[in-house]
Amino acid sequence: MLISDIEIEVIKKNIKNMHLSVLPPTGKVRISAPLSAKDQAIELFAITKIGWIKKQIEKFENQPRQSEREYVSGESHYLWGRRYRMEIKHTKTANNVEIKANKLILTVRENSTQQQREKVMNEWYRAEIKAKLPALFEKWEEIIGVKADTVKVKNMLTRWGTCNVKDKRVWINLQLAKKPIECLEYVVVHELVHLLEKNHTSVFVEYMDKFLPNWWVIKDQLNSFIMDRYLEE
Ligand SMILES: [Zn+2]
Repeated sequence: MLISDIEIEVIKKNIKNMHLSVLPPTGKVRISAPLSAKDQAIELFAITKIGWIKKQIEKFENQPRQSEREYVSGESHYLWGRRYRMEIKHTKTANNVEIKANKLILTVRENSTQQQREKVMNEWYRAEIKAKLPALFEKWEEIIGVKADTVKVKNMLTRWGTCNVKDKRVWINLQLAKKPIECLEYVVVHELVHLLEKNHTSVFVEYMDKFLPNWWVIKDQLNSFIMDRYLEE
């Protein structure tokens, strides 16, 4: 069930009242409902709680999380699904990120904090994604026959992408730069298909099957990445 761009998992079980939870660590939203509850009633319940849900998700996205990365030499970092060994170099001037053979060279001030290094890396990932997006959108907008008015790249902890159907605005998670490029392509297709079908209905799935027949393999792959990441933490 999709309410205000938020994916809500509905589980029906033998209980008396509806129960809403926003689960750590990703802010996944779940409604447990009595077996007899009608979809419409569940939807209405979700809508009345949407303010609270959004607040909880925001909390998960903004909480200072214990990063699995320290941004030190020898660490593994990924770009487009390939693994690189981080090498830290120090500078007194501009930060830089550079790939050389199997090394990812992060040049930062010597006393920079973990958060500052993470920010430099994320800006680099953002630039990598932004370089790929125009061609991907051009290709898929033509195939699918829709057009996104705004495309933004954002660091998100709970979603790989979102689509505001009304404003035709697509947000892409910059973390996708770490995954194989077909994952980014899948998210682009998924979000554009939302411009044809707002919710994850059987119609939505039919479109996905038509445009990207192996979408579910890539989706599984993406979900396993999320798990890995949180298992690491
Ligand atoms: Zn979706």
